[in-house]
Amino acid sequence: MKIVRFEAKGQTGYGIIEGQTVKTISGLPWDGINLTGNELPLASVKLLAPVHPPDVFAIGLNYKAHADESGFKYPAAPVIFLKATSSVIGPGESIILPNMAPDEVDYEAELAIVIGKTCKNVREEDALSYVLGYTCGNDVSARDCQLKQDTQWARGKSFDTFCPLGPWIETDMDPDNAAISLKLNGETMQSSNTNDMIFSCSQLVSYCSRVATLRPGTVIMTGTPSGVGFSRKPPVFMKPGDTVEVIIDGIGTLSNPVSADSLSM
Ligand code: MG
Repeated sequence: MKIVRFEAKGQTGYGIIEGQTVKTISGLPWDGINLTGNELPLASVKLLAPVHPPDVFAIGLNYKAHADESGFKYPAAPVIFLKATSSVIGPGESIILPNMAPDEVDYEAELAIVIGKTCKNVREEDALSYVLGYTCGNDVSARDCQLKQDTQWARGKSFDTFCPLGPWIETDMDPDNAAISLKLNGETMQSSNTNDMIFSCSQLVSYCSRVATLRPGTVIMTGTPSGVGFSRKPPVFMKPGDTVEVIIDGIGTLSNPVSADSLSM
């Protein structure tokens, strides 16, 4: 099942996609899929980020080949950081290169877990039963802030628009064996499979739930494969006018244009 959050005629809501139709639901998807009986053509709605998360957890260095290209040892436990929830945008919305740090803005294709039930101290074998589904994420990162200027990653990972999510939440897939890739202006920059992850989705949900109570809608970004821009020779960073796509088998494609920051101080 594909769960979407959408805007139509000035209203926002949730629905499920069947073919080219959005069947709207009442309430929130983690409270149950209660169809209202209303149907809208998919082409008539604007898809939003499929969830407005109360928290965005993210995992660093969770693909073996990405740890290798970054020059880091494989972590003994998941490396957790947080992204500001205000950085979430939906499919088709612009990633804005911030005036404060426009020069080294990088992409990171990631499988994003969406929690469906309040979750605390869950065992690995039970963890996936707390998951609503999965969506595509882009852990956009200002590398100059993250790697050169700051010791904490919060700033480099949390500029407005730095967390594209979408286009929908897929509830039926194997999250630990899915092809994942990223295209920049149509050229494949990352191509891997979630089976290269060091810590599986169930391990990540269990581990994060031992840190914090994971509330419905919480997103866990599961880390990115190799091929990010800063590790290329020469490095590749995003520029105004670019288009970046995250493609995950079993979910779909999250596409976002890239723009300059038009706001001045
Ligand atoms: Mg990342």
